[in-house]
Amino acid sequence: MNFEYSEEQLSIRKMVRDFSKEVLQPKAAEIDEENRFPTEHIPKLAELGLMGIAYPEEDGGVGADAIAEAIAVEEITYSCAATGSILTAHYLGIDGLYLASNKEQRKKYLVPGCKGEKLFAFCLTEPNGGTDVASMKTKAKLVGDDYIINGSKIFITNGAYADTLVVYAKTDLEKGAKGISAFIVEKGTPGLTYGAGDDKMGIRGARTHEVIFENCRIPKENLVGHEGEGFKIAMSVVDRGRIGIAAMAVGLAQAALDQAIGYSKERVAFNKLISEYQGLQWMMAEMSAELEIGRLYTYYAASLKDKKEYRLSKEAAIAKLFTAEASNRIVHKAVQIHGGYGYMKEYPVERLYRDQRILEIFEGTSQVQKMVIAHQLFK
Ligand SMILES: Cc1cc2nc3c(=O)[nH]c(=O)nc-3n(C[C@H](O)[C@H](O)[C@H](O)COP(=O)(O)OP(=O)(O)OC[C@H]3O[C@@H](n4cnc5c(N)ncnc54)[C@H](O)[C@@H]3O)c2cc1C
Repeated sequence: MNFEYSEEQLSIRKMVRDFSKEVLQPKAAEIDEENRFPTEHIPKLAELGLMGIAYPEEDGGVGADAIAEAIAVEEITYSCAATGSILTAHYLGIDGLYLASNKEQRKKYLVPGCKGEKLFAFCLTEPNGGTDVASMKTKAKLVGDDYIINGSKIFITNGAYADTLVVYAKTDLEKGAKGISAFIVEKGTPGLTYGAGDDKMGIRGARTHEVIFENCRIPKENLVGHEGEGFKIAMSVVDRGRIGIAAMAVGLAQAALDQAIGYSKERVAFNKLISEYQGLQWMMAEMSAELEIGRLYTYYAASLKDKKEYRLSKEAAIAKLFTAEASNRIVHKAVQIHGGYGYMKEYPVERLYRDQRILEIFEGTSQVQKMVIAHQLFK
């Protein structure tokens, strides 16, 4: 075991922290208020190499390790959880190609994705169920040299903005999970349209849309892996992606703690700074303890991600479950420490409180993480 940061991890933390504070923080409240996708951030994330930071250089990435990726997501989310979500959703899209695409697909799609020239979306969830993936209804039928896709996906982060969508659809309706296949669909393909966009509680800048396929015809070369491998690919992607959500939770929790400490050192009650009251100090001590435990375990789970063949389901689920739920407790306390002001939009903790809630829902709810952990315990 080695608990030291590498030089590279430290320099990535500094670079992303500076960028996050200078570029993302000043716009975070505005994109939340306007419910606006921050298109302007994408080329900047790309310029810093963040769109494919942990992917190999030959795939267009930077070749940093997965801990560095977690650090980057944490630092981005510290200032703007919506941008953290846009980035982690992009990773979910490219990760399917990293794990399962062929040489031509890597060159045509994965490389521009990792370089950040193309934004990705991951299209799995359907109106009838996000947890029960195998019940999906979207179909892909091979007709001549093309697949024709029909169906719809909901809540798709980056969906309406992505250049490249990785779509999971059934090629065999009789086979349940084994009938699911993965496809690449390019923006602008006839038959690909979007719903109006969701009006969300938090991470409002990370716009989500329904993505609709009506006789959407794509070349058969856009099948990723083989027919029937889609479920396996999607589950590996979400396992690995959960570390990104854990990193988001750590970044958001750090922001909540810093806001709470800062506010407590300014606010006076009964002629004393509220930071001098032990009751509040203990709340912040608890916040710090949960945050640091979550951070350490997230980095541990991330370190396993570098072992591409290692199935990290349990560790990723533990990291996501713990950090998502801990960040809820942490941000709850941060609002409490702000008193009435914490309930007002002029204080960032109000946004953090709303942004936090999604961490316990997407990429598998907390209940799903417990199912995954229990499955590993009893298999
Ligand atoms: C902001 C946002 C962004 C998203 N981005 C994407 C994206 O980019 N791509 C994508 O594909 N999806 C995305 N999603 C979808 C997200 O992953 C799903 O919403 C999530 O997995 C839950 O699925 P569901 O909403 O269908 O809830 P359901 O599956 O209907 O679950 C409802 C409730 O039942 C519980 N439950 C379900 N099954 C069980 C069980 N067996 N045992 C115990 N409890 C159970 C759940 O924990 C939950 O509490 C996004 C969602 C949101 C809100």
